[in-house]
Amino acid sequence: MPKPGPPATVIAWPRSWDIPRAEQFGELLFTHFGVSGPVILTLSSLIHKYLKQSVKLNIDLKPALSSEQLDRRLQRDFTKYAGKQLKNALHDLLPHKMIPVVLALSGLDIHKQVDQITRYEREQLVHTFKNVRLTVLKTRPLNEAIVTGGGINTKEINPSTMESKLIKGLYFAGEIIDVDALTGGYNLQIAFSTGYVSGISIY
Ligand SMILES: Cc1cc2nc3c(=O)[nH]c(=O)nc-3n(C[C@H](O)[C@H](O)[C@H](O)COP(=O)(O)OP(=O)(O)OC[C@H]3O[C@@H](n4cnc5c(N)ncnc54)[C@H](O)[C@@H]3O)c2cc1C
Repeated sequence: MPKPGPPATVIAWPRSWDIPRAEQFGELLFTHFGVSGPVILTLSSLIHKYLKQSVKLNIDLKPALSSEQLDRRLQRDFTKYAGKQLKNALHDLLPHKMIPVVLALSGLDIHKQVDQITRYEREQLVHTFKNVRLTVLKTRPLNEAIVTGGGINTKEINPSTMESKLIKGLYFAGEIIDVDALTGGYNLQIAFSTGYVSGISIY
């Protein structure tokens, strides 16, 4: 599996404004199917129920820099790479494969020499760096899920024993229960804790 890219801030929001946005900062991975990586895993757990309403992602590829700082950085790089074409002047800021993508999104002429780039064009580039827009069509299939939502309603389980309140002698632990948490060990902890309680309750 390729390593996640540099940190990005990703904001996900459904079309309807009365539904809150979700924002995550961290590592993002562009893959053959779309986007993945820690920030996307976290966001997928938050946005999956809004997918019918067309969820959008706004990716800030340079979250550590304000637009003004990024503009100054571009000016420095353009001075450093004076005489070179735009497509050959962004290697200090972007992974190789992302350069043509970002330039296509910005609508700039990739062959233009960097010393001829206007202030307006530079601003367009800054805007693209900080606003890569994607539409979420779907999440990956269940068999690729790390954690699944849904399952036995916790109201139907006695938390002291993990025994079903509906069927005597039936105990639950882990994923089968309708609890899910963000990645980072919490789901394993749920499995361990509920497994321990149901185990000592049975015997
Ligand atoms: C790739 C990946 C990465 C993950 N990373 C993290 C992480 O970093 N942190 C975190 O907290 N959680 C993580 N999780 C989630 C975590 O692993 C699960 O939440 C946890 O393992 C659930 O435990 P469980 O015992 O309920 O289910 P499982 O671990 O799925 O165990 C179920 C067991 O039942 C067996 N089984 C299934 N059907 C039958 C059957 N009919 N008869 C007999 N046996 C059967 C299966 O073979 C399996 O051994 C990850 C999951 C995946 C897939």
